[in-house]
Amino acid sequence: MNPKILILIAILVLAGVGIWLAIQTEKATQPEISIESGKEEKPEITLISVYDNYLVDTKLKTSWGFATIIKTPEELILFDTGGNSEILLSNMEKLGIDPASIRKIVISHIHDDHVGGLKGFLERNNNVTVFIPSSFPQSIKNMITQKKARFVEISASRKISDSIYTTGELYGPPEEQSLVIDSKKGLVIITGCAHPGIVNIVRRAKKLMGKDKVYLVLGGFHQPAISCIKEFKELGVEKVAPSHCTGDLARDAFRREYGENFIEYGVGKVIEIR
Ligand SMILES: [Zn+2]
Ligand SMILES: [Zn+2]
Repeated sequence: MNPKILILIAILVLAGVGIWLAIQTEKATQPEISIESGKEEKPEITLISVYDNYLVDTKLKTSWGFATIIKTPEELILFDTGGNSEILLSNMEKLGIDPASIRKIVISHIHDDHVGGLKGFLERNNNVTVFIPSSFPQSIKNMITQKKARFVEISASRKISDSIYTTGELYGPPEEQSLVIDSKKGLVIITGCAHPGIVNIVRRAKKLMGKDKVYLVLGGFHQPAISCIKEFKELGVEKVAPSHCTGDLARDAFRREYGENFIEYGVGKVIEIR
């Protein structure tokens, strides 16, 4: 064979091997799961207390219970309904929030100071999906259906809205779900009564989201031991807004320890996260 042709074949083979190697190297440097690019822009979130036994806006009514509205650029979510729908709807009206603008309701747990306002709310607006712990009794499921609203039973963690997740039903009784918002500033954790333990909930939320930065923990902390403040600091919780069933003793201790990072949360309080 002509030596020139042999050299040409050798060059072509070597070039082929070179290209193959380059492709393999390229493959090896790419992550296994492609991370969605351009999805990093997180929405602005506004939290509005519409029901609490602590008062911030004196035009509003307080009562034992908890309800907070989470406003995203896409929608309004009502987390818990307080114990009395008249108080809930009257506070919402004074804050300029139309009940018809709410499409999703999340109920943390079975206690009346969280679910008591649901029936009256559904009589005003039944075009909603209610996310309830799956352990809820049939009577509540029947009531939601009778009011011609929809319900979704929650046991495991899942997405509720863009950037908003439920922890899933955590152990009880009573079984309880909390919300976790993946905000621009870090995780925002919202609890109803924190019956599964506020520190446990923060730990669970961090693990579920695979994120370390906790910007804010807000809601009822259920009279925790004062030592939980040290655990909060160890968990890297930046701001706290304890209200409802936290108890004055623990609330005052959080206020002292957190200083300017303590938020006076109560009915009428508006927190913007941007
Ligand atoms: Zn409770
Ligand atoms: Zn409660």
